[in-house]
Amino acid sequence: MKNTKIVKKILFLLINFHIFADKYIPKNQFESDYLNNLKKEQISIGLVKNHDFLGESKNGDSINSLIKEMFLEYLDLNVIFIEKEYSELQELLEVQKIQGIALINREKLVREKLNLTNPIFSRDIYIASSNKILSGIKTLNNKKIYYEKDNFYLKFFDHQMQIYNIDVEMIEVDSINNYKNQLILTTVPEYYNLTNYLSITRSAGYTLGMIDSYSKLVNILDSSLNQKYRKKINILEEKIRKEYSKNNFLNSLTNSEKMYLKKLKTLNTSYDNDVGIMSYWSNYKKEYKGVVPLLIKGISEALNIEIKTHKFEKKDRINALKNGNLDFIILSKTGEKSNKFIFSNKISEIATYVVNLRDNISQQRRVGVLKYNIGEEMVNFYDIPENINIYPNYRILREALDSRKIEYILTTDISNFNFETYKIRIFQNVPINLGLNKNNILLKEIIDKALLYLVDIEILKKQSLLEQEEEELFKRKVLFEEKKTLIILLLILLAFIFYILSKIKKERKITSKLSKDELTGLLGREKFNSFCFKNIEKNGFGFVIDLNNFKNINDTKGHEFGDEIIIEFANFFKNICKYEYIFRISGDEFYGFLESELEETISKFKKYKEHCPLMIENNVSFSLGLCKIKTGESLKDKFRYADLIMLQNKKKYEFSYGVVNSEFILSKEKEEKIIQELKSNLENFYAVYQPKFSITDNKIIGAEALARYYSSKFGNIYPDEFIGIAEKHKMIHKVDYIIAEKSIAYLKAKITEGKLPKDFKISFNLSVQTFEREDVVQVLKGLLQKYKITEKNFEIEITESLFIVKANYLVKKLEELKKIGFSISLDDFTAGHSTPSLLSILPIDTIKFDKSLLDPIEENCKDKKSMKVYHTLTCLIRELEMEIISEGVETLDQLRYVHSLGIEYIQGYFISKPVGEDELDFVVSNHGGKDGNVRKG
Ligand code: C2E
Ligand code: CA
Ligand code: CA
Repeated sequence: MKNTKIVKKILFLLINFHIFADKYIPKNQFESDYLNNLKKEQISIGLVKNHDFLGESKNGDSINSLIKEMFLEYLDLNVIFIEKEYSELQELLEVQKIQGIALINREKLVREKLNLTNPIFSRDIYIASSNKILSGIKTLNNKKIYYEKDNFYLKFFDHQMQIYNIDVEMIEVDSINNYKNQLILTTVPEYYNLTNYLSITRSAGYTLGMIDSYSKLVNILDSSLNQKYRKKINILEEKIRKEYSKNNFLNSLTNSEKMYLKKLKTLNTSYDNDVGIMSYWSNYKKEYKGVVPLLIKGISEALNIEIKTHKFEKKDRINALKNGNLDFIILSKTGEKSNKFIFSNKISEIATYVVNLRDNISQQRRVGVLKYNIGEEMVNFYDIPENINIYPNYRILREALDSRKIEYILTTDISNFNFETYKIRIFQNVPINLGLNKNNILLKEIIDKALLYLVDIEILKKQSLLEQEEEELFKRKVLFEEKKTLIILLLILLAFIFYILSKIKKERKITSKLSKDELTGLLGREKFNSFCFKNIEKNGFGFVIDLNNFKNINDTKGHEFGDEIIIEFANFFKNICKYEYIFRISGDEFYGFLESELEETISKFKKYKEHCPLMIENNVSFSLGLCKIKTGESLKDKFRYADLIMLQNKKKYEFSYGVVNSEFILSKEKEEKIIQELKSNLENFYAVYQPKFSITDNKIIGAEALARYYSSKFGNIYPDEFIGIAEKHKMIHKVDYIIAEKSIAYLKAKITEGKLPKDFKISFNLSVQTFEREDVVQVLKGLLQKYKITEKNFEIEITESLFIVKANYLVKKLEELKKIGFSISLDDFTAGHSTPSLLSILPIDTIKFDKSLLDPIEENCKDKKSMKVYHTLTCLIRELEMEIISEGVETLDQLRYVHSLGIEYIQGYFISKPVGEDELDFVVSNHGGKDGNVRKG
């Protein structure tokens, strides 16, 4: 359960993530509903135009266009944008022409009017100039400062000036581009190609704001910024900034420099792998990393020049630079080297450290350095060669210190030394420059300009530090990952083994369940199946047993208790049968074979009463089906018949048994053939009609539809045969529905044709099974509608066997049937389960007195008692105000008798036998008669 939930959740996220990745994913139903409603409205949002916001990138991207995209595509809202100057937007906001402003500073005025998102980015505020000296904030005192109209950050600048107590004269201009040789206020000096600037403060962040009625949208805007757009905007800003920088850089180049660059395709360099964050080899990225490689990468991208890195030992590297095989390398500028090489402006500085053991007391000055490390250069400069020991790697270098071969180490890398054992102090900062071949003056100039315009060393340092951390993390991760992969593999393997094992176990369980029953130790169904294929070389009885009342006990007293009963019964079995001949087929069904005569077999079974106290106590017994088996007979069928006879004789609570005989087998065989026939040819059912006669009116007023079946194989099959079978095979409702439909269709047609009177009434029979069906009212109602019957021409005949149905349900159903237009007749009164008490509550119209009540009343021998019964019942029904119809009237005497009791309606051979469709109207118009047609066929 839990796993499927997690899997579902993951699937949900994956689907959402992939399908809707370019749409905002609402955090909850509320947001989703809110957004959907919002889509129906139009929202106006102001965009600030014309400030020195970096403008557009080369391919037309701008921050404003990203904002538009966010509203229109990502949030899919109906927004129109009004791009105006900030002051104009403020006016529009006042008159409610816009509902929000995008990308404004979080200044106080705005905060009061709008609900704002979290800042998206912020800018440093600069004073910049192309030629004025900017050596400190105090130098601004009493100066004129030019700013563009609608400058957001004017307030921040003012505020800052107040803090420093500096007086400035602010001059508003339309475009500060024309005032670059003055002091200008800007956040993007690179935009104006100015490299001479002074940072004043940082502005409050840029934000999106919406009026109060859209405050809920602000949360969603914040979420979409977080999900996607904050990052996008920042990337774009950086990109545009770079574009400007590059532009400024290109503008700064002289013609000869431009020419040189045009011809230049590749530059060769070689990096150190141990100059701290300046340059190192990354095992993780498999390339050189650090400030210098980043710097070179930035330049190469800006100029579209390929940089080739070569692996050289430090000594060879310097030679390669001298020979012109390398164009530049990292090289600190020293007086000595200045004779051989030229140097770029200082890129950075790197610290060198002196490391010695904390407990060192030696006064010697023996120093150890790493070969080709900056330390080596330094030491050569400061010390005499006798004092210097040079080592190839850090491990040996440290060992030398630890074993006191040397007294101290001069190094740039202290990561290998801990502060507890070693004393570490900074020695000197060494400048880091790029060294170039003496002939390469143009390249030096270009690199210096790139350093000025294209790259910000501080940023590169930060970036390098981050990358170094990443590297460390990676190193640890690699270790972990190696283990993790192993663990995962192991887990997969374990899961697989577990799966296979459980599958084997499950299969075994199934087989053993089928072959041997775990609870009782008896053989199971599978063994029974193979037993059936064997020839038993013995005579005896095959038996089928089904426990009575067991399910009830199991349900009420629990399965464990049920199991005890089963075990008890199985043990009893083991005493009377051979082990190899008893099978537990399902929960409370047992099959088996007993090698004994019938009498003996039955008495053996009856002994359960002595051996199974638990069964007796709990009123559990069993029903037994027996079938004689002779040597070599096929067993499967025998057990099937044993099962059928067991079912036929089954009693709910008592021990009972049935024995299969040839008659039973024959009848079952016939039954099977018949049910096959009935099932496969439902269209062979048809109705015959037995008239109902009104004595007073002396005419036929209706008829009962009775089912018939004509089989090409068996000829006519009569209801006394097929009704029972159809009921047993749960298909009687099909018969009932067919006869109902046929009789309804028939009467409708006959009335329409004028061959039967409009008030003619036809009844049809519904068995209990049909009546209990949920669809019965629906089906019958449908039939009335189908044949457009509105008059009450139809009657349903039900029998007293229906009274097993719960009274309230019965009443409800009958009432529903009456409501849709049927009258109700109670058939076969009172041949069976008469429950007169029910008569008073059931909505019945007519009672059909059963033929058996009338049979004894004949012409010669008038059965006084039977007459009394008939009479009394007549009185009873009259009391209940129901109609009576006498069934089975075969003689004139019987007719006279019922007439004498005041009974109105009769049905019976005396009037007419059931007649076919074509004869009924004829019989009706001739008032029927004794010699009406017999059964069809
Ligand atoms: P039932 O509903 O009591 O039908 C009356 C049965 O008595 C009919 O037999 C009819 O032919 C027979 N009968 C009528 N008058 C006389 C008479 O004067 N003398 C004699 N000896 N018999 C007479 P049938 O048609 O064989 O039907 C037998 C039973 O089968 C019906 O008894 C009814 O319970 C059932 N049945 C017939 N058709 C259907 C049906 O469509 N659905 C259901 N559920 N049961 C049906
Ligand atoms: Ca009937
Ligand atoms: Ca009847």
